[in-house]
Amino acid sequence: MDRVDCIVVGAGVIGLAVARKLAQAGREVIVLEEAEAIGTVTSSRNSEVIHAGIYYRAGSWMARMCVSGKHALYRYCAERGVPHRNCGKLIVATSAKETEKLQSIKAHAEANGVLDMQLFSGEAARALEPALACDAALLSPSTGIIDSHAYMLSLRGEAEAAGAAFAFHTPMIRAKAAGGVIEIDAGGESPMTLQCGLLVNAAGLSATTVARNIDGMPLDRIPPAYLAKGNYFSCSAKAPFSRLIYPVPEPGGLGVHLTLDLAGQARFGPDVEWIETIDYAVDPSRAERFYPAIRKYWPTLPDGALLPSYSGIRPKIVPPAVATQDFLMQGPRDHGVEGLINLFGIESPGLTSSLAIADHVAEFAGL
Ligand SMILES: Cc1cc2nc3c(=O)[nH]c(=O)nc-3n(C[C@H](O)[C@H](O)[C@H](O)COP(=O)(O)OP(=O)(O)OC[C@H]3O[C@@H](n4cnc5c(N)ncnc54)[C@H](O)[C@@H]3O)c2cc1C
Repeated sequence: MDRVDCIVVGAGVIGLAVARKLAQAGREVIVLEEAEAIGTVTSSRNSEVIHAGIYYRAGSWMARMCVSGKHALYRYCAERGVPHRNCGKLIVATSAKETEKLQSIKAHAEANGVLDMQLFSGEAARALEPALACDAALLSPSTGIIDSHAYMLSLRGEAEAAGAAFAFHTPMIRAKAAGGVIEIDAGGESPMTLQCGLLVNAAGLSATTVARNIDGMPLDRIPPAYLAKGNYFSCSAKAPFSRLIYPVPEPGGLGVHLTLDLAGQARFGPDVEWIETIDYAVDPSRAERFYPAIRKYWPTLPDGALLPSYSGIRPKIVPPAVATQDFLMQGPRDHGVEGLINLFGIESPGLTSSLAIADHVAEFAGL
């Protein structure tokens, strides 16, 4: 039976960042990926926003990883030539009540280490974005957008250059952990059994299933899994904005916001739709809720401009009644299984946080 130092399950942005980190630290790494290529699941179904770290609960993993991950990601993109733009984002208040909230959002951001937020009057905000309707706005200069595929290709390239190997069409079926050695059965076209000293479960939406299939992993340490779909609508009209535009958040979500891709194409979403089974189809009727929400800050959005686009699914580990979750990153001290690291609930801002999460995994691994 073949033995390697480290096996990473999943070649999404998190598995790729982890594989790169471990390989560059001199570890022998194999990445098992059940799909045919890197980044085909949640990592290619998101907003591609480099988040600033404004809203997350102070002290949470999300807040810490987002802020440190954001700085690391901007540096990485600059060094490796990954297309990105530090375009900034405006959080817009369209009522007196919302205007009051902007100050507390700014204070919350500052508690998270996001120190560059700037408050603008409606008029000053319109000097930046003339088509905007708002009473006041908060500018987040450190928010940006990234070509996530170019980023993932770069991570893969560096991981391979440092010796990591990728096995596609190769799902991890089950594993057995005992005495610091983990034995893994992988399926697919060429089933194999491998042994490793470190197994990193970066299986995204399937991370809880993968954990459940590890003999030795205590079941009571595995969180429940829920699915919260986010639907996007593209905009057939040219959106007259150069920054991302977010309403003041409402309970349960960030509101219907506008993000841009690097070509300047606008999309709206994601909304929140709790689902039981994975289904990426976008229901066109959900656009009805988008129009009035968007017209609060962009009154001239033309009728019929919104077209169903794509969706992504958040790997939730808390039920709908619980408003927020945090990343749940478990090492041996958390579950008692030597050599096993589980990454659960890596929803947004997982892309922004990816390099910081990889650093944290390296700490778990004693590197
Ligand atoms: C709607 C939406 C919008 C988002 N927007 C943003 C954003 O703008 N900015 C941001 O920072 N973050 C955003 N995120 C979060 C970000 O997309 C995720 O945190 C990130 O992509 C998670 O990456 P991952 O590698 O954990 O998961 P995935 O990309 O899902 O990768 C997991 C991989 O594991 C593989 N796999 C699963 N089971 C097995 C198995 N048994 N064996 C082998 N392989 C397996 C899968 O095929 C997959 O390739 C968003 C998420 C959603 C849902």
